[in-house]
Amino acid sequence: VKAGPSPRPLRIIALANQKGGVGKTTTAINLGTALAAIGEQVLIIDLDPQGNASTGLGIDRRQRRLSTYDVLAGEVPLMQAVQATAVPRLSVAPSTMDLLGLEMEMASAQDRAQRLRRVLEPVVSDERPEDERFSYVLIDCPPSLNLLTINALAAAHAVLVPLQCEFFALEGLSQLLRTVEQVRGALNPRLTIQGIVLTMFDPRNNLSAQVVADVREFMGDKVYETMIPRNVRVSEAPSHGKPVLLYDLKCAGSQAYLRLASEIIQREGRLPAAA
Ligand code: ADP
Ligand code: MG
Repeated sequence: VKAGPSPRPLRIIALANQKGGVGKTTTAINLGTALAAIGEQVLIIDLDPQGNASTGLGIDRRQRRLSTYDVLAGEVPLMQAVQATAVPRLSVAPSTMDLLGLEMEMASAQDRAQRLRRVLEPVVSDERPEDERFSYVLIDCPPSLNLLTINALAAAHAVLVPLQCEFFALEGLSQLLRTVEQVRGALNPRLTIQGIVLTMFDPRNNLSAQVVADVREFMGDKVYETMIPRNVRVSEAPSHGKPVLLYDLKCAGSQAYLRLASEIIQREGRLPAAA
């Protein structure tokens, strides 16, 4: 057996917030793209029945023959559902509406909260083949603290929380943090908060600035310096099936996601991958 170079350590990050429309999917797609652009091997797991991450990465519904539903239902190994995207080094395990039924189907299964963790075992292993050597797995969660999100929290090393700069931002955050505590206690002792990323920031809006101040006071240095501005290019990109970095690299949104990627790598104290 030839011993290849030992794989880069794998980091599994769940993007979670039970509120919809706060930028989870946008951040999964564009942070994933930015990490891939600086040389990381990235897998996005679409865990939302809406499948917005899959669509935004250009995988249309007809192309989703195998999905995260089939994987979590135990029918196929994860890698069989994984597809390449237009971004080098970025793959996705797409989702379909089938995921809606999974919660019911799993309800009485003993391992119902640990399904994702189990199916990730082969890609976590040091023995995994070269083309399965991801350095980041980003899990795009649905807008709810349901069993799918619990599966993501049980499988992850850390939670990345996108928080929209709006008035009720902190209210939802406390509930999410309590859930993270519970999962850490019951299922996944290693689970930490990766960080909080403020999204859709509008510098001309006083409320936006006040929310930023409050969140920074409440969560301290867990909040990334980098804020994602509200940017029309970011919202246009998914309808072209592209990450904003491919759609308009120069726009403020793309540049912010690139800064976020380097801030995350820096904070983890990891050396950037050689691109
Ligand atoms: P979630 O996954 O949390 O439900 P999304 O990422 O789908 O949220 O974002 C909700 C909506 O806001 C989408 O239409 C998306 O295109 C838009 N959006 C997200 N981030 C930005 C941004 N920085 N600027 C402008 N629009 C954004
Ligand atoms: Mg989403």
